[in-house]
Amino acid sequence: MLKIKDLHVEIEEDNKSKVILRELNLNVEKGNVHALMGPNGSGKSTLANVLMGNPKYKITKGEILFEGKSILKLKANERARLGIFLSFQYPQEIEGVTIRNFLRTSYNSLNEEKLSVMDFRNLIIKKSKLLSLDENFSDRYLNKGFSGGEKKKSEMLQLAILNPKLAILDETDSGLDIDALKAVADSVNALKKENPEMTILIITHYKRILEFIKPDKLSIMLKGKIALEGDKKLIDHIEEKGYSWIDEE
Ligand code: ADP
Ligand code: MG
Repeated sequence: MLKIKDLHVEIEEDNKSKVILRELNLNVEKGNVHALMGPNGSGKSTLANVLMGNPKYKITKGEILFEGKSILKLKANERARLGIFLSFQYPQEIEGVTIRNFLRTSYNSLNEEKLSVMDFRNLIIKKSKLLSLDENFSDRYLNKGFSGGEKKKSEMLQLAILNPKLAILDETDSGLDIDALKAVADSVNALKKENPEMTILIITHYKRILEFIKPDKLSIMLKGKIALEGDKKLIDHIEEKGYSWIDEE
């Protein structure tokens, strides 16, 4: 589904270029829940941004294949149309735009088949039910005055409506108390159950959310590259020992 080969990424800072990702290789298989863990500053969000096509980051070497095709030259909206979705660590607040209108506009710009107001209302009702959300939730302004947990619910509703092939969830668990965290995990699990083909790349600093969303595979990122890969057993090891024991080379 997703193949990253020898990726090198730089960013321009104070007229100097700074290497953030180097020699990064990663394979994500279709239908998998793939966890990406690593300490703060290791480059996880950079990778998520690069996958989505954020033009701030410069790719100096390497390749990114999505379903066998290079996406390097595609803009963010073109990648979204291919079925790539990124959930942000810090979602924006937009006054005056309801979740419902925002989602309908997004849906219609990404899909050939446009939905009428009525059909879209039905889709919202169905997906809200799936996520145990009040149907009126989507009448609120986008993330305006939302708690951390509500912002994540709004992201999950967006994920449910857009139903991408690849969902990248960047620190969806950050700043959530245990109840909100469980609610997010329940949402992801419900979506995955409804659409088992959906591939999920879940980026996190802590193993907590991975107790509720079971990953098929785990990759550890250190200083801009994948330093180690494993399965669920590796998670406990990380929790106990931290990241420092992993030999980079
Ligand atoms: P993580 O998500 O794993 O915490 P990031 O990808 O946010 O890591 O950051 C990795 C490194 O790249 C950090 O040293 C960070 O300061 C740097 N970095 C990321 N984005 C930018 C940017 N826009 N400008 C300057 N430096 C950046
Ligand atoms: Mg980050």
